[in-house]
Amino acid sequence: MTPRYPIEGVVSWNMNTTCNYRCSYCTQRFVDDRGQWARDLPRFLDAFRALPGDWEIKLSGGEPFRHPDFLDAVQALVEGGLRVSVVTNFSASEAELARFAELTRARPGLLSASLHREYADTDAFLAKAVWFAGIHAGPVCVTCVATRETLPELPGLKARFEAAGIAFKAQPEKQDRDVIAYTPAERDALLALGGHANTGRIDPDFEGRPCWAGARYFIVDHRGEAFRCYPARRYRTERLGNLLDGTFRLGRGAEPCRYTYCNCVVPQSRGMVDTRGGQ
Ligand code: SF4
Ligand code: SF4
Repeated sequence: MTPRYPIEGVVSWNMNTTCNYRCSYCTQRFVDDRGQWARDLPRFLDAFRALPGDWEIKLSGGEPFRHPDFLDAVQALVEGGLRVSVVTNFSASEAELARFAELTRARPGLLSASLHREYADTDAFLAKAVWFAGIHAGPVCVTCVATRETLPELPGLKARFEAAGIAFKAQPEKQDRDVIAYTPAERDALLALGGHANTGRIDPDFEGRPCWAGARYFIVDHRGEAFRCYPARRYRTERLGNLLDGTFRLGRGAEPCRYTYCNCVVPQSRGMVDTRGGQ
């Protein structure tokens, strides 16, 4: 079954590789140069503004708040009529976060704060999340990577955050881009936490199902390289061109998924693919 046309499209923009942390489980820790960022913001903004219909731009990195022109980019995107969301390690100052909330107030997006316990103090992180939720017009959630060591603590952490009114989601740990070999008991524990980002699944397979990724969702990096979704980038298939050199082409409709492992939360959670029975 082809899901209905998604009214709002979503772009995941990995706008920099720069990060102030070096988490042991970071999927980007083997990136050659972790000091790169999108430099030609005007051309990126022109390309995003030229997308057909309504779009949300989901900023991530690296750590997007470490992009030297991060708040200017947010402002320009907002002025271009785009919804702006962000995935962040939440280490930015309160002043920067408050400015983000202010800039996005008219059409707020999600702030997803990743709790990295190798760097962040949990009590301080929770207090900051509660403070930010009080000034941000959009939703706020906290995510935490379910390493083998952390997994037993996640139910308690989830209860604590949710008692304070903050949604808490687990993320499976990945090595070499695949979910680590959790034991059956660990998988059960992860599913009891809601699976990957509350999708109810850990590493689902939607191969062959029509998916709007490529037409109403795509990913783009700091150089403008665009792909249908994360598995497409991994396998260097279904490249959509480059946003900055005029070769970018959006797909026209829902096309069959070609991959046996979907780690893209946006298409799953926005109804862009029929997820029933996918795991
Ligand atoms: S904060 Fe995110 S991008 Fe930075 S090192 Fe940790 S996992 Fe990687
Ligand atoms: S991997 Fe996921 S996002 Fe990509 S085409 Fe398949 S279902 Fe869609």
